Amino acid sequence: MDSGLAERLQAVRERMESACARAGRDPGGARLVAVSKTHGPDRVREAVECGLTVFGESKVQEAQAKIPQCPGRLSWHLVGHLQRNKAAVAAQLFDYIHSVDSARLLEAVDRASAEAGKVMPVLLEVNVSGESSKFGLAPADVPALLARANELDNVEVRGLMTMPPFTEDPAEARPWFRRLRELRDAWRGETGFALDELSMGMTHDLEIAIEEGATWVRVGTALFGERERT
Ligand SMILES: *Cc1c(COP(=O)(O)O)cnc(C)c1O
Repeated sequence: MDSGLAERLQAVRERMESACARAGRDPGGARLVAVSKTHGPDRVREAVECGLTVFGESKVQEAQAKIPQCPGRLSWHLVGHLQRNKAAVAAQLFDYIHSVDSARLLEAVDRASAEAGKVMPVLLEVNVSGESSKFGLAPADVPALLARANELDNVEVRGLMTMPPFTEDPAEARPWFRRLRELRDAWRGETGFALDELSMGMTHDLEIAIEEGATWVRVGTALFGERERT
């Protein structure tokens, strides 16, 4: 079967590398999460054959059905919103959570990860634009959450994630990506957390995000094609 995935992956890698080069960054400084939501295990297997190992899902329930049917030893990232009552399942399924957006959720993930016998790497999702339709912490609430994270043994806050408002022109996302990096730099100084990871940029705007410091880009459509509307 040739769905063109190998070519699309190559194109995404080239976009990532040229953005790194423009920004004077190490070409490996931005890594790819292949967002496989809505696509079945066959597409994941095909992506694995192309060399991908890090996959992103946005819904726990979908991931719960899919992951056991996929090759082992892949790394699964939860990139979508997580409800507290799904923390236990999420802690078992996932290796990384990009979307922690409250103290209660952080605590639930900590407890669930302890039960699953792991330390979960997490990112705090920040709503930098203040857009009311978006999930994410208000920037003002982040320092207190970092202080709380310091007291928890089974979550490790590695950095920050954001989803800017959608605009036709991806360049309009730049100020939001830049804002996340600037907030990170400030919190790094204030809290002692390194916050090395910045998860930002998707199919539409990954170059802009990388130019502004993204270390994880979450890409679905550019790899797997348009998703069916559900
Ligand atoms: C679906 C999704 C993506 C991937 O979006 P594309 O535009 O298809 O690349 C990235 N991040 C999150 C949180 C998503 O839900």
